[in-house]
Amino acid sequence: MIQFTPLQPCRLLQLSLLLLLTACHSEDEKREAPYLNNRVPLAPKAYIELPLGSVKPEGWLLQQMELMKEGMTGHLDEWYPSVVGSRNGWLGGDGDGWERGPYWLDGLVPLAWLLEDEQLKAKAMEWIEWTLNSQTSSGYFGPVPFEEEPEPEPGLQKSRRRDWWPKMVMLKVLQQYYEVSEDKRVIDLMLNYFRYQLNQLPETPLDHWTFWANRRGGDNLMMVYWVYNRTGEPFLLELADLIYEQTFPWSQVFLNQDCYKGPLLDHLYPYNTGNRYPFDQELIERLCTKQLQSFHCVNFAQGIKAPLIRYQHDPDPEYLESVRRALSDMMEYHGQPQGMYGGDEPLHGKDPTQGIELCSVVELMYSLEKMIAISGDPALMDHLEKIAYNALPTQVSDDFSSRQYFQQANQVLLTRERHNFYEEDHHGHTDLCYGLLTGYPCCTCNLHQGWPKLVKHMWYATAEGGLAAVVYGPCTLRARVAGGKEVTIREDTGYPFGERIGFDITTEEEARFPLMLRIPGWCGEPEIRLNGNPIQFGTRNGMAVLERIWKDGDRIELHLDMEVRLSRWVENAVSVERGPLVYVLKIREAWEKVENSDRWGDYWEVRPMDPWNIGLTEEAVSDPSRGFRVVYKESDAGAEQPSVQQGALYPWCIQHAPVSLVTTGKQIPDWTLYRGMAGPLPHSLPLKHLAGVEPDEITLIPYGCSTLRITEFPVVR
Ligand SMILES: [Zn+2]
Repeated sequence: MIQFTPLQPCRLLQLSLLLLLTACHSEDEKREAPYLNNRVPLAPKAYIELPLGSVKPEGWLLQQMELMKEGMTGHLDEWYPSVVGSRNGWLGGDGDGWERGPYWLDGLVPLAWLLEDEQLKAKAMEWIEWTLNSQTSSGYFGPVPFEEEPEPEPGLQKSRRRDWWPKMVMLKVLQQYYEVSEDKRVIDLMLNYFRYQLNQLPETPLDHWTFWANRRGGDNLMMVYWVYNRTGEPFLLELADLIYEQTFPWSQVFLNQDCYKGPLLDHLYPYNTGNRYPFDQELIERLCTKQLQSFHCVNFAQGIKAPLIRYQHDPDPEYLESVRRALSDMMEYHGQPQGMYGGDEPLHGKDPTQGIELCSVVELMYSLEKMIAISGDPALMDHLEKIAYNALPTQVSDDFSSRQYFQQANQVLLTRERHNFYEEDHHGHTDLCYGLLTGYPCCTCNLHQGWPKLVKHMWYATAEGGLAAVVYGPCTLRARVAGGKEVTIREDTGYPFGERIGFDITTEEEARFPLMLRIPGWCGEPEIRLNGNPIQFGTRNGMAVLERIWKDGDRIELHLDMEVRLSRWVENAVSVERGPLVYVLKIREAWEKVENSDRWGDYWEVRPMDPWNIGLTEEAVSDPSRGFRVVYKESDAGAEQPSVQQGALYPWCIQHAPVSLVTTGKQIPDWTLYRGMAGPLPHSLPLKHLAGVEPDEITLIPYGCSTLRITEFPVVR
């Protein structure tokens, strides 16, 4: 007979997140958690982050890391030497001295230590050592400011070396390095720098050099609290107040009803000028109008976490509400089925051909990873997984050698021509083409953080000395639990393609701790087996809680049933989801390399080899359980456990898609290209003009496996 401790009464579920956090806090006091939670007066986090390296990738996730090493992440200094080579200001040079060097490091550092790769570590350490040694007696660190403005050089961001923004990125780099090294120089540098900020910010506020630092001040604030937790230095709380005051008032803006609304972009408020600190009430009111669609897409992805970062210091439930409302408004006014939003520079509405910048994808993932720790909101976990397993894999080529600046939900042709993005002539019309420098190079440097940070945040510690799995995938966790005992949990799964996740526990001595497993919002009937036997379990805040004395060799099997689900989008179009994956029309791809000597470099164009203008039949849509048939690629592996285990083929491509859906559709001849993109969606009442045409069998594959796709489908009778 298996004993489980009783759960908190279900009244907890009805209380606000704030009260839930308080409840967790009182649990906290009963037992010692082996990892550092927030220090008073900061409110305790719902989940505590584990140091980098606690979670190691396995299976296809390990393969993904190895592809990164062989591709852009491992070689960016060789492939893009003009910017992240020896002339970079973060190596003491006179070249690029702004965000791009730190961006690369922000993904290179976690990759190097996840792979335990000495070559990659050596590349990272050159930058880290230079940075640690760059601090002056004032506390300033980073590229040496120029006495006189330097001559501009095409492709380099040389000036603005005192800008607060790129230092926020390097602080994140140093934080990750500290987690694997406990190198005390990191804490010393940060303390000295934060004293420098406390001295300088009154005269030269966050937006003194650029507006980016002001929009992204939440990242700075997060690091101040991180050092406070480790040192308890009171001046850090004073600095935190100052930084929050100088940061764009995201929370107030998100809480305004009219955010994101607005009929047209022709009233576009300049998204990269104005709105300077200090923010008076009139400005906030002006911002809280339709002009707010002029949020810059990456600023939104980063700024959304600012209210929750602040909430730790000022536990007002309004901050929680502001983030909840921001995410729901973002989906309502700009959302797309893969969990992202139209934002080809400013936010740009819901049309499935509006662009999504790769920086927005990785920054929103990072924001969600940080917000999950603070609030424990299970909706954020579902959202993180949706972006990671749909939007992220497709925007970089399979060999990790090139990427798109923008991706689209309905993406049927990737050629260099005029599209319907903000500033129609910017970036030489290369935004959709795969390349190293197509579109704009920020993403080339910033994309690397996506996968490694996802791996780090698949598991968290709990305040009660337990462990919580919040994103599923093949990995191995090694962590300490209540009483300081170390346990290893190997996660053995074909997820996100399959429905079963196995957890094998290894421990030298028996250990009592709560093990929390996320039950996704889309899952209707989860089942859990312990050592082969089905068990009853309760859920708390979206997590199944299993508390017992765990023994070496214990195995848990979690079964998350995945039903086909449909949702309605622009012009009543339908998108198809099953479990964490969005399914899209399979379109075979013809890739062609274009040699090009202008500043966008060589690039790839991709053209469809199959018709893309396909609608789903009303018959299939009206009864999804019968209208869509699930097919696993290797039927001998069993219908419930697709073969994407260790050593299997890279799953995120059209050839190896581990699972597909077969359904019926019809070609819509009058749905045609417009400006090199899928033209405007016909309205699905459904469409009746094809009623006499026989439907065809069509195949849908996971969004992340596609390069060309239809995600929002018209419906035909
Ligand atoms: Zn970018």
